[in-house]
Amino acid sequence: MLSRRMFCGCASAAVWSGLVATRAEAAESAACAVPTRESQHAKTPADVLARLKAGNERLVTGNIVQCDLMQQVKGTASGQAPLAAIVGCIDSRVPPELVFDQKIGDIFCARVAGNFVNTDIIGSLEFATVLSGARAIVVLGHSSCGAIKGAIDNAKLGNLTATLANIRPAVKATKTSGERNSKNTAFVEAVAEKNVRMTVAALNERSPAMRKLVAAGDLKIVGAMHDIATGKVTWLS
Ligand SMILES: [Zn+2]
Repeated sequence: MLSRRMFCGCASAAVWSGLVATRAEAAESAACAVPTRESQHAKTPADVLARLKAGNERLVTGNIVQCDLMQQVKGTASGQAPLAAIVGCIDSRVPPELVFDQKIGDIFCARVAGNFVNTDIIGSLEFATVLSGARAIVVLGHSSCGAIKGAIDNAKLGNLTATLANIRPAVKATKTSGERNSKNTAFVEAVAEKNVRMTVAALNERSPAMRKLVAAGDLKIVGAMHDIATGKVTWLS
């Protein structure tokens, strides 16, 4: 026969697990809700960055949210109001939607080898922010980046030569007491971080329209580094 104490223990455990499940479901339904113009406007840049941080935490801890993607396809068919824009590398190990556990309609992504910006990408980001209302831009570099290594070693190959030239300023601006080649892992990571910081600065310098949004507190442009070995994103100050 169950003692009163055992019964109470089981009952409270059931209540507790029900509460945990309810909270998990609530978090899941919030993460799966397609952003609307109203919900986008209601969020600050800090809210959006917190959402991305929480998404990366879910990835790292094995708790990614399962959403009904076809429901999201239907929910975004008549329009979109993404919360953030990511400038990332083409590297297959750093897909922004997965890195931040975001779904359909949540984020704009511009991807190019070495996550730098040019006129076309800045124009795309102006579309994402000025016209479409995204509240944050994240320039996302990553560890062990092949484009960074290629720029460091001054690799030459067809059109890639011109692409890598966009990263050369970050190579030149990075100091090291070791060898200035891609075998120097610390140098590779330092150049990748410098490249992110220079890209953030370039966005502020080259886009008066986005600079205005930043000044008004309606947009934040930040840099971050993704560790391909752990999945974790470290935010640059
Ligand atoms: Zn890369």
